[in-house]
Amino acid sequence: MGAGLTPPGPPERGGERRSPAWPTAASAVVGVMGEPVSHSLSPLLHNAAFDALGLDWVSVGFPVPTGAVRDALEGMRALRIAGLSVTMPHKEAAHDAVDDTTAVAKRLGAVNCVTRRGDRLVGDSTDGEGFLAALRRGVGFEPHGRPCLVVGAGGAARAVVVALADAGAAEVVVVNRTPARAERAAALAGPAGRVGSRQDVAEADLVVQATPLGMAGGVGASDAGGAYDQLLDPDQLHLGQVVVDLVYHPARTALLEAAAARGAVIANGLGMLVHQAALAVERWTGRAAPVEAMWEAAAAGAPGIPGAARPR
Ligand code: NAP
Repeated sequence: MGAGLTPPGPPERGGERRSPAWPTAASAVVGVMGEPVSHSLSPLLHNAAFDALGLDWVSVGFPVPTGAVRDALEGMRALRIAGLSVTMPHKEAAHDAVDDTTAVAKRLGAVNCVTRRGDRLVGDSTDGEGFLAALRRGVGFEPHGRPCLVVGAGGAARAVVVALADAGAAEVVVVNRTPARAERAAALAGPAGRVGSRQDVAEADLVVQATPLGMAGGVGASDAGGAYDQLLDPDQLHLGQVVVDLVYHPARTALLEAAAARGAVIANGLGMLVHQAALAVERWTGRAAPVEAMWEAAAAGAPGIPGAARPR
């Protein structure tokens, strides 16, 4: 069992809510640090969980500039902040600055969840576990024995590659713009991993899009064929496949539209976000996360995400 899976034990503050007032001076504080951070849905998800659990805990956003991660974590220790989610661009710096890391965080060289245990800061990576939970719960896909393909080789893609390999995928093919990064990501899957090309998409039961392509306002927001051309051929997507886009704004990217039109089952990245937030709540509080309440908060509280809703 990795250190991140050990229940944190009773916090010094932030027990059950005893008055309608919340938060109070007795509340336990957690949050998300990133740059930028004001757009993050994480506090909304954490607070929905604390509300449903009746816990006197509160989550907020901490904008932390590049280069200040070590200071921010020292502040976390001094201010007795119970836990921090870590988002872009700080996951690698957080890995280097915490006291202890779980096995998966060490393997990925990245931390997206810090839990304070007494005076020690434990870094974990829950992106992969959150991805698998969303895949299983959201679209009922079990990777064991199945050929899978991941587009991208950045932090999110690497977490997905490791999660799929550890779940027993028959093959984890990585397709990426920069071949050297694809090699490194595929190596994380051990014997199941290999670098692929845009034609490989037809043979995969699961296709995971893990680049920022298709994000609202970014490259490929409306042009599936053009934006993804070098990486995958949308015309090869077909019935019987599951296609997941880790982007969740918009709720249906051009790639997901193309996949749905060809009969594939689709899911966006909101499920992974919800489940990694649920895992953070569990690491910090030692309580089972109220995932349904968090899903409802995500769907209702994401006004900038047209059509954001639970896949089923
Ligand atoms: P990252 O570490 O910066 O990696 C970015 C990846 O995208 C790299 O493989 C990069 O290729 C590729 N890429 C970037 N621009 C490209 C372009 N114009 N054409 C082709 N490839 C391009 O980012 P990340 O942290 O992995 O995040 C990737 C995406 O996943 C983001 O959209 C992020 O919001 C999303 N994400 C979602 C969740 C969730 O919970 N749903 C969690 C984490 C991340 P090169 O290697 O060639 O540079």
